[in-house]
Amino acid sequence: MKPTDLPRWDLSVLYAGPNAPEIRTELAALQTAAERFAETYQHRVASLSAADLMVALGSLETLLGEIYRPQAHASLLSSTDALDDTVRAMNTAVSDVATEVHNRLRFFDLELASAPEEVVAGWMAEAVTEGHRHHLRRARESAPHVLSTEVERVIATKNLTGRRAWSQLYTEVTAGWEIPLEVDGETRTMNLAQLRALRTNTDREIRRRAHQAILDRFERESPLFAYILNTLYQDHRTEGDLRKYTDPVAPTLLDDEIDAATLHALMSAVEAHYPVAQAYFGLKARALGLEKLMSHDVLAPYPMATREVSWTSARDLVLKAFGALHPEVADIARRFFTERRIDAEPRAGKQDGAFCAGMIPGTPPYVLLNYTGNLHDVLTLAHELGHGVHFVLAGRRQSLVNYWPTTPMAETASVFAEMVLTRDLLSSERDPAVRRQLLATRIEEALGTIHRQVCFTRYEIRAHARRAEGVVPAAGFSDLWAREHDRLYGTAVERTPGDAWGWAAIPHLVHYRFYCYAYAFGQLLVFSLYRAWEENPSIFVPRYLDLLASGGSESPAVILSRVGIDITDPTFWARGLEVVTRMVEDFRSEVVSAVP
Ligand SMILES: [Zn+2]
Repeated sequence: MKPTDLPRWDLSVLYAGPNAPEIRTELAALQTAAERFAETYQHRVASLSAADLMVALGSLETLLGEIYRPQAHASLLSSTDALDDTVRAMNTAVSDVATEVHNRLRFFDLELASAPEEVVAGWMAEAVTEGHRHHLRRARESAPHVLSTEVERVIATKNLTGRRAWSQLYTEVTAGWEIPLEVDGETRTMNLAQLRALRTNTDREIRRRAHQAILDRFERESPLFAYILNTLYQDHRTEGDLRKYTDPVAPTLLDDEIDAATLHALMSAVEAHYPVAQAYFGLKARALGLEKLMSHDVLAPYPMATREVSWTSARDLVLKAFGALHPEVADIARRFFTERRIDAEPRAGKQDGAFCAGMIPGTPPYVLLNYTGNLHDVLTLAHELGHGVHFVLAGRRQSLVNYWPTTPMAETASVFAEMVLTRDLLSSERDPAVRRQLLATRIEEALGTIHRQVCFTRYEIRAHARRAEGVVPAAGFSDLWAREHDRLYGTAVERTPGDAWGWAAIPHLVHYRFYCYAYAFGQLLVFSLYRAWEENPSIFVPRYLDLLASGGSESPAVILSRVGIDITDPTFWARGLEVVTRMVEDFRSEVVSAVP
């Protein structure tokens, strides 16, 4: 792939560059405007009429949008030029002002949350609040858990040297590791990311050594990590008690607008489906010609499935697949190319991986990729453009507070886009190795986001319960970890004693509380939507576009009920899992026909 073929994005619709003079002028104006907003409304929110409240919310959304623009610009520039001094200076200037402005505006949501019940009921009854009722309801639901403005300020400030510092310690310790590994007869020093990447190496012995080296290092540092997790879990409990939460999962569920029964139904359905994951790993061992799949083979690639795809072919493949869903979807995606809103070229100083920056309503989203020309990169392009379509559709109908989808819904359009592209690719692919790889990619993605994340969540629930009884030793976390992984893998994947230290190796379990289930929710939801599309495209497609345009204007349950989905129905999750079962059966046919 010639890098010259690959596009860089054009950020000039935002600002001319990191030195654009209007950035500083706008930041100064923003500070003044935030100050004026606070002078007008602080200590008065509960006394506003419904109409005045809407005026205030409108000004607040404008202010938040205005701070978001330079922030997004700074973060987009840093993602391709993190080491450039001008970019760094601008980034710091913008984030200092952003923190100050956010602190200045924080009172508004706190006052909304603590407004008397009858005042809120009065607001809700007025027609003028219709577009913002969901926002008000959310503020209401969090009200019983919000502390006084002063206490909230103290907690936010103390978290910088408390919770945030522990989490940062974990990042800094693991980022500083230089781990020796013998590759091709010579010993090389590698960081954690490089070692993790070797777990997908074609050479089994390299995979084994990399896997072992990672876990050995986590084992050696496990007393420190156990200390960090004990502290973070206790901090979570202390704050939960202060905020009158009855369960450690409750704050996450409230944020995500999911009830406990839905979480329970989701997790039980997935756990009952573990045997299908085990069946897949059995087939994977067979396809790789291995007697037994070891834990270092779980991420092993299939041989001979590489195919180079030029950038223009990637674009055409994705736009064709999107067009089969709906012409409008293809049109929205096409504009990312014509308006130069994609940075695809890998180069020094550019961030790894891929993302879609959603921006704000009225400002089009951008996509970052590191395109190297394999099929996986084409799927990543579809994924990020799926996010892009979601944002554009939501931006047409929603104002800022209703724009971003809630966490469990955030991956709907992106994963759906990958499914749409995979279906299209499989329909024309004749090479058995490529077909097998395409199916395996989807299945492993599903097992990684559904089964594995539910396993993590179950572990996390049990670990918090153990912490509530007292300090948990490192070996205690290992026991819980091994037990949940025994359930997931059964006898299909043979594990080494070192695997029990895996709990320390998952950054999400350090930085966030109960985040992992949301991946499972999102993926299973997409499978259910996909089935609905297959069954009746003409009914499904308009409803699906409407769902995306809803952004975060309602809870997942309400938005999904409009496409005929009831997430409180236990059989709903099982229907999504049937798509995984079917893919594993298709994979079985491919393997059986290939391996005599
Ligand atoms: Zn995504």
